[in-house]
Amino acid sequence: MINNKELEKLLENLPSTVRLVAVSKFKPDESIMEAYKFGLRDFGENRPQELSKKMEQLPGDIKWHFIGHLQTNKIKLIIDKVHLIHSVDSEKLLLAINNEAQKRGITVNCLLQVYIATEESKQGLDRDELFGILARREQFSNIRICGLMGMASFTNDLERVGAEFAGLKELFDMVRKENPSISDVFCELSMGMSGDYKVAVQHGSTIVRIGSTIFGDRT
Ligand SMILES: *Cc1c(COP(=O)(O)O)cnc(C)c1O
Repeated sequence: MINNKELEKLLENLPSTVRLVAVSKFKPDESIMEAYKFGLRDFGENRPQELSKKMEQLPGDIKWHFIGHLQTNKIKLIIDKVHLIHSVDSEKLLLAINNEAQKRGITVNCLLQVYIATEESKQGLDRDELFGILARREQFSNIRICGLMGMASFTNDLERVGAEFAGLKELFDMVRKENPSISDVFCELSMGMSGDYKVAVQHGSTIVRIGSTIFGDRT
């Protein structure tokens, strides 16, 4: 069962320039199909095995987004059919994705996940790691670096969340400005979840990743 009313409200509130990724992790195929019938085509998952199963079962025109921590030994499970990997959080992972993509003769769309929260537990690259990857981007010939992703601190303090998103947007703009040769491709900023997507959109998000508002709480 999906929350039709909330989904309608969400679609009304989102500017047409912002893409909605419905985060369907832990949710059954039937729920995804309900959202699909509603018109949604972008779905996000955070476990490779689950994503690979759902990819096989569900309609071929779904664009699958991988949004969780990806271990290098799981790349094979998703690389063929994933539309966008949001969560590249190390150069080692990027290199491993590139190698696997090279073997298959494909190009993989990736976002670089940047650490913006003040919590220790969150994943992501720091600024030095990000700039290092961008400086060496020629090495990743089978990767299309499409932009950045970030997760704000898990807090009710929306001012702090806003400051974190603003910082990521600033970084995003700086990368585009300093690397005009990639700015055609480097145009996605994935930020915002159920609790903070409005703040994220105010700060220039182009993709929001929303789960519980659409599918209900994950128990
Ligand atoms: C689960 C998850 C979401 C969706 O969270 P909700 O609060 O349910 O909207 C978004 N992004 C990532 C990376 C997630 O793991």
